[in-house]
Amino acid sequence: MIIKTQAIVLRMSPFSETSRVVLWLTRDHGKIATIIKGAHRRRSPFVGQVDLFYTCELLVYLRVFRGLHIVKECAPLKPRTPLRSRWRSTACASYFTELVARISPLYAPHPELFRLLDMALDYFADQSALELGLFWFELKLMKVMGLSPQLKECLVCHHPLQEDNAFPEGVGPGMRSALRDKARATRVASVFSCVRGGVLCKTCAPSAGKEALPITPDILGMLRFWQSSQSWRTAQSAACTPRQTRELERILGLFMQYHLEIGNPARATALAIMRTRISP
Ligand SMILES: [Zn+2]
Repeated sequence: MIIKTQAIVLRMSPFSETSRVVLWLTRDHGKIATIIKGAHRRRSPFVGQVDLFYTCELLVYLRVFRGLHIVKECAPLKPRTPLRSRWRSTACASYFTELVARISPLYAPHPELFRLLDMALDYFADQSALELGLFWFELKLMKVMGLSPQLKECLVCHHPLQEDNAFPEGVGPGMRSALRDKARATRVASVFSCVRGGVLCKTCAPSAGKEALPITPDILGMLRFWQSSQSWRTAQSAACTPRQTRELERILGLFMQYHLEIGNPARATALAIMRTRISP
């Protein structure tokens, strides 16, 4: 069967002297592994048509017995050239494509995940990629996987939870008052439990296991703000202190590790590279 679909390159590796294997996340057929025959030949029609982080229009011959499918045609729709030179962005894009490669089963269409990865790569190709954008995408990834943390009410007693104005700088006054309005709550969040999948109030906190992490109202406010926001531009409008950034990194990292059941060295590498500053 021949299929035509949009697809994002997740991984590439050589197969022989002239061919290469490409792992894709397709919009309509989920993750598939293909072979591009003759990709390394000088006169191959595939030269310049496919590379890491590209979104392409793909024509593939899907073999009945699965395995490696054969790419017939490939045209780049988004080459994302900045990812060839902005190494901080490249590290984030690598982390995200690797994460999606690991959590996506083969042949399981997930158009929302495709859209999110496509958007994330657009974002990382942008000069202004930030840690906060990375956290925003992680929260959205958990959402499209059906694994959003419960942040609005205590998981045990179901009382709504209080949050602080999480963004003292960097957001408009309208946004600030909206956040204040939301703080009509009855209980203070106390711990974040990865195992239970969300927050517990101070009263119920003792019932959480030892794995539960303390969470302050400002961190809860940030997570809730991003969880409900639709645009990554929102993440860019926020400002975090170094302590807040560290806490967000820790909470989201442990939550993803627990629920996606994967260790994530690529995340640590991406965050470390993003924070590297080269002195002039
Ligand atoms: Zn409670």
